[in-house]
Amino acid sequence: MHVIVVGAGIIGLSTAWKLRRRGVSVTVVDPNPAMGASHAAAGMLAPAAEVVWGQSPLYPLMRASADLYPDFAADLAAASGHDLGYSRAETFVCAGDRADLASLRELVDLQRSSGFDVSLIAGSRARDLEPSLAPGVCGAVTIPGDHSIDPRRVTAALLAVLRDDTVRARVNTLINAAGRTVGVELEDGTRLTADQVIVAAGSSCNDISGVPRLPLRQVWGEVIRLRVPEALTPLLTRTIRGLVNARPVYIVPRPDGELVLGATSREDGRSGTNAGGVHQLLRDAERLVPAILDCDITDITTRARPGSPDDVPIIGRIDPGCVVSTGFFRHGILLAPLGSDLTADLATGGDTAWAPSGSLAAVGPERFGSQNLPSNAPATQHTVLIQQPAGSHP
Ligand SMILES: Cc1cc2nc3c(=O)[nH]c(=O)nc-3n(C[C@H](O)[C@H](O)[C@H](O)COP(=O)(O)OP(=O)(O)OC[C@H]3O[C@@H](n4cnc5c(N)ncnc54)[C@H](O)[C@@H]3O)c2cc1C
Repeated sequence: MHVIVVGAGIIGLSTAWKLRRRGVSVTVVDPNPAMGASHAAAGMLAPAAEVVWGQSPLYPLMRASADLYPDFAADLAAASGHDLGYSRAETFVCAGDRADLASLRELVDLQRSSGFDVSLIAGSRARDLEPSLAPGVCGAVTIPGDHSIDPRRVTAALLAVLRDDTVRARVNTLINAAGRTVGVELEDGTRLTADQVIVAAGSSCNDISGVPRLPLRQVWGEVIRLRVPEALTPLLTRTIRGLVNARPVYIVPRPDGELVLGATSREDGRSGTNAGGVHQLLRDAERLVPAILDCDITDITTRARPGSPDDVPIIGRIDPGCVVSTGFFRHGILLAPLGSDLTADLATGGDTAWAPSGSLAAVGPERFGSQNLPSNAPATQHTVLIQQPAGSHP
């Protein structure tokens, strides 16, 4: 069996890797591998802290994927020989003032009622454990089960294990024959055939001709990477999330000394880096960890999260030869182990009984109704195929 995966973000790459481990031949196609949303992501693996967003169909998916992470990370580290920057240190969610503390109490109630192991501690106790926290921090929720990984290292490891199976090219069109996707056409006109095509092009899936229009929204976010000066190392030993005047902000420390500060969230369609957003992030982070202003900025990245109307991923078959896997919104790094297994099973006809109860229906594209999925297929159907580029499997 041969599968083409369109898109080399964390979802396409991890799906391709899972398929290859099952003995399936894969070709991953992307003009700019691993430079989409996965390049921006902070890498928080945070099923409990994300409960704040009130998206109950997501909780079982996030929890199940978090449970898969230790094996996913260990297997990928072993296969690639790469260090993934995986940290199992706990997370603090801090309150910037008394009003934010009241919000945190509500968060704790919701997290506990959802079965998560969390505790609320006083600001003084939080500072004992994390001395760089500001004197104004007046309480913190401790979450032992929320961890982190470095997404740039994860995608680099995946690209390393898939190096012979990756083609740098843009897919323009799905090739359709008698109602079934049978391959893809690249922008230079090259046509590739496959038994199955997986479209995992993040927030750009609708730019590919032949993909039924998916109800995707682009949720732009700025994220800042910093390096801690040697004299202040280690500035933080766990992920610090917080509410500052009701605005969420986070700082993720990497094992290699990097800090990731994020993230803005906007749907204004502007791909540029917004000065006000960066200013706000630094100001809010300073309220929680004042020494953040003594660090060196190494990188500011702006990317679009691939959002869906209900913030739940869109994973499912769109015709007998094609599966889509997108809409991972702000949880794609956390959901990669589960999302890739589910996508690989759907593409190969594998058993999906392992998936959390109700999850297939929760992620299915058909949940939006066929009226929301009009085909944007090209008027003329392409004939099938012909040429495989160098480096791909036959
Ligand atoms: C600022 C920010 C912070 C985030 N933090 C976290 C976090 O802490 N934890 C978490 O779990 N998630 C986080 N996320 C969300 C996470 O990054 C995404 O959900 C995830 O990266 C989506 O992965 P993807 O593979 O679907 O998309 P992408 O990473 O965007 O990959 C899609 C790929 O498809 C390719 N592509 C597009 N069009 C075509 C085409 N026509 N042909 C071929 N290839 C194509 C692109 O080049 C790209 O490489 C964050 C996102 C942002 C923006």
